[in-house]
Amino acid sequence: MQGSTESSPFPRWDRLREALKNRLSPQAYATWVTQMACLEDAGQTLRIGLPDSFSLNWVSDHYRHVLEEEVAAFGDPVELQLELRPGAPEAGPESRKVELSQATAPRRASLERGASSRDDARSAPRVNPRYTFQSFVVGPSNELAWAAARSVVDSEIPTYSPLVIVGGVGLGKTHLMHAIAHELMKRRPNLKIHLRTSEQFITDVVQGIRMNKMDEVRWAYRACDVLLLDDIQFISGKETCQEEFFHTFNALYDAQKPIVVTSDRLPHEISDIQERVRSRFTWGLIADLKVPELETRAAILKRKATTDGIALDDDVAMFLAQSIRSNVRELEGCLVRVHAYSSLTRRELTLSLAREVLKDIVSDKGRALTCDVIVRAVSAHFDVKVSDLKSARRSRLIAFPRQIAMYLCRRHTGASYPEIGQALGGKDHTTALNAFNKIGQRLSDPDVRSHVEEIERVLLD
Ligand code: ADP
Ligand code: MG
Repeated sequence: MQGSTESSPFPRWDRLREALKNRLSPQAYATWVTQMACLEDAGQTLRIGLPDSFSLNWVSDHYRHVLEEEVAAFGDPVELQLELRPGAPEAGPESRKVELSQATAPRRASLERGASSRDDARSAPRVNPRYTFQSFVVGPSNELAWAAARSVVDSEIPTYSPLVIVGGVGLGKTHLMHAIAHELMKRRPNLKIHLRTSEQFITDVVQGIRMNKMDEVRWAYRACDVLLLDDIQFISGKETCQEEFFHTFNALYDAQKPIVVTSDRLPHEISDIQERVRSRFTWGLIADLKVPELETRAAILKRKATTDGIALDDDVAMFLAQSIRSNVRELEGCLVRVHAYSSLTRRELTLSLAREVLKDIVSDKGRALTCDVIVRAVSAHFDVKVSDLKSARRSRLIAFPRQIAMYLCRRHTGASYPEIGQALGGKDHTTALNAFNKIGQRLSDPDVRSHVEEIERVLLD
């Protein structure tokens, strides 16, 4: 009996949480439900607290009906109330409570304050001037990440720390991160912003150790007012860097300095990473970028065309957006190619010209990356039948290609694990998740990596 919900002071809340776990995607659950705390579960009242107004608004707008439906399914009349939690920081994992206990009291650091502390710590970050909030097109696929990124610049004390922006290749992670830096530099020029890629971070640490200058490296990272680290997944397997990141994170977190990281996968999908580092990623908000919908893709093209002075008709934009679906970088590349062709041949950029230019890439490589396309490519690469990949057969000759297919589906389409499981003959979502993790971990094996890269080349080049 121990550990059962019978001893819980909030039995309906426990039940609701369980129901939400089954109903919501793991991403949505991790982002929103783990932030909720039950304030009251008595009589006809179930009061749920959220840690800040951003979450409260978001959950009220997007998930209230889900919560109400699940509560209604209990059978008894229950009034569900969503509200701001009094005195926030108890939420989240147990570890957070424990580890923050000494640090919570004097945390009122102003963002501006650190600016004068040591001037040599940071010079202005190198920001791509094209990556601004103004040039970022918002649609349902990226609305959450965009709103969360805005909240970093709109509030002095971070609403979320860390903000983890997760998304596949070319979906705008770096763009949003630079937009944050850009906007902060404009609004608060005294702020010390440390914008680095993880590769730079790794180099900084390696050089720091080699040259006996770790103090300086630490200073640069810990004395900044805002830390922005792009592509954090690369610290996988790098023990010393994880150690440094862990202490840097704690220092900034305790000083209430915003920390934003991007990753091409969810924290639990990053292999070879210390649990304590991984858990830090779940303290704040994980906001994902999905593959943009058709209209958003077309709008991105139109916006880019305007910026670059390219005359782009709606029908051409729509055609390109329909043809290239997997990521925005490819979409932009396509526009550049069509435009170059049109100016070099001095022909107007019409639909038929666009069709002509994209004929090859659209029919072969640029075609929409769906799970089916990937499964077919994997089948051709390993010379196994699609029907075998979708079967229940577990022999290594089939199981390994199947795992690779699941891995590639996760990396290159917006499909969820249940959808990937479905695309491979109705497998369970945990099978797809395990396959993704397993292949991700085995990428350091040159054999496995070369299979993955060869198939990717066929799919993406
Ligand atoms: P990632 O870091 O996720 O791999 P990037 O941020 O480098 O992707 O984005 C790839 C390209 O797509 C960039 O040129 C970026 O400006 C563009 N892009 C991505 N999403 C959007 C968007 N929503 N609106 C405008 N441009 C976008
Ligand atoms: Mg990037």
